[in-house]
Amino acid sequence: MGVADSGVVRNGQAAPDLLVAGAGVAGLWLTVKAARAGLSVLLVEPGNPGGGASGGFLGALMPHSPERWNGKKEFQFQALVELEDEIARLESETGTFCGYRRVGRILPLTTERGRAAALDQIADARTNWGDRFRYEVHHAPVRSGWPDMLRAPHGVVHETLSARLSPPGLIMALLASLAAMPNVDLRLGAGVADIAPDEHKARLSDGSTVSYGHLALANGVDAFPLIARAAGLPAGSLGGGVKGQAALLDARASPDLPLVYDDGVYVIVHENGHVAVGSTSERAFDDPVGTDGHLDEIVKRARKLCPVIKHAPEIRRWAGVRPRAIGRDPMLGPVPGAPDVLAMAGGFKISFGIAHRMADCLVAGIAGTAGPEIPQSFSVSHHAAKAAAKTANG
Ligand SMILES: Cc1cc2nc3c(=O)[nH]c(=O)nc-3n(C[C@H](O)[C@H](O)[C@H](O)COP(=O)(O)OP(=O)(O)OC[C@H]3O[C@@H](n4cnc5c(N)ncnc54)[C@H](O)[C@@H]3O)c2cc1C
Repeated sequence: MGVADSGVVRNGQAAPDLLVAGAGVAGLWLTVKAARAGLSVLLVEPGNPGGGASGGFLGALMPHSPERWNGKKEFQFQALVELEDEIARLESETGTFCGYRRVGRILPLTTERGRAAALDQIADARTNWGDRFRYEVHHAPVRSGWPDMLRAPHGVVHETLSARLSPPGLIMALLASLAAMPNVDLRLGAGVADIAPDEHKARLSDGSTVSYGHLALANGVDAFPLIARAAGLPAGSLGGGVKGQAALLDARASPDLPLVYDDGVYVIVHENGHVAVGSTSERAFDDPVGTDGHLDEIVKRARKLCPVIKHAPEIRRWAGVRPRAIGRDPMLGPVPGAPDVLAMAGGFKISFGIAHRMADCLVAGIAGTAGPEIPQSFSVSHHAAKAAAKTANG
């Protein structure tokens, strides 16, 4: 059954229940979850699925710090807990390996103040993460040289909630899942160019027009201008992109090693022993996909941090542009004034850990079923208010 055989009838033509723009990690999870719920879905993607910001290889799934708990932190925590089962289901349905493992994370402590703050967070973690995950402060790294003692003069935090997955593995699994679903159509080579929310119609970049029941804008950094237009706001007001660069090393490291994170540098061992190292955070850039000396600096710092990778040969470099909403939190839910247009954008640095739960929220909203609560700070109107305040303050 393709979308022409199901869904709602609008403007005299069969329309998918849900038109999804963008086949990155956000749009793919949404398509899979909506199709599992019985909705007919048309997913449109102008480039390659997973060819945007989701095309990297880091795959860190790291929680926010456990203190000053709020709706965003709770949402992400629940998402990180659920992801283990979500991945297990996806792998068993598709036979595609996602390279997921809950390896935990080490945070080197470089100052006495940092150590004192970390000790305070032990109680916060117990309160907010519960008994299943540990958050401990040690005098020395749990595994020798991971990281180097010299880089952790005040000890380390070791927490057991963090995990990692293989981004290409997950993208392949999601594509395999939706390919097997009769109520999904994937249209490549065309994106959403314009929307007429009152008519429930979208014009695609190939010149065709598609009617829809709901439209989800899950097209990464390019979602913000479309969301703004649907909300009647200036194009650049709701968010933009932050470039990141990463490198992959052939380190033959042990895949059970925890992630190491220190002041913007991530070191992540994957199942095949390759080690992903990242990431730069660049607000201003000319070339969104080029790599340069900023990455050299990150790799240098990572090699110092973890001597195991000191001489590991570099096998790949990559850059992408992370979608970051104006209010910093993800942007999720109906667009004010156009309630059948849904935002699913702004996952910034945590999309791989939360996209499945963001999808659950939208699918529940469309299907009228119970779903996870969307934090108020994720709403488009919250972000629009932030944008207005920013304009007012010059
Ligand atoms: C160096 C780096 C390291 C990162 N590390 C991590 C990490 O360790 N953990 C983590 O969780 N996150 C990480 N991120 C962030 C994460 O990769 C992104 O937040 C995530 O990929 C965003 O997914 P997305 O689906 O929203 O957007 P994208 O992956 O960019 O997908 C959007 C898709 O929409 C398509 N599109 C564009 N315009 C249109 C249109 N008009 N109509 C239809 N489709 C359109 C694009 O072609 C693209 O395929 C990292 C990012 C970078 C750059």
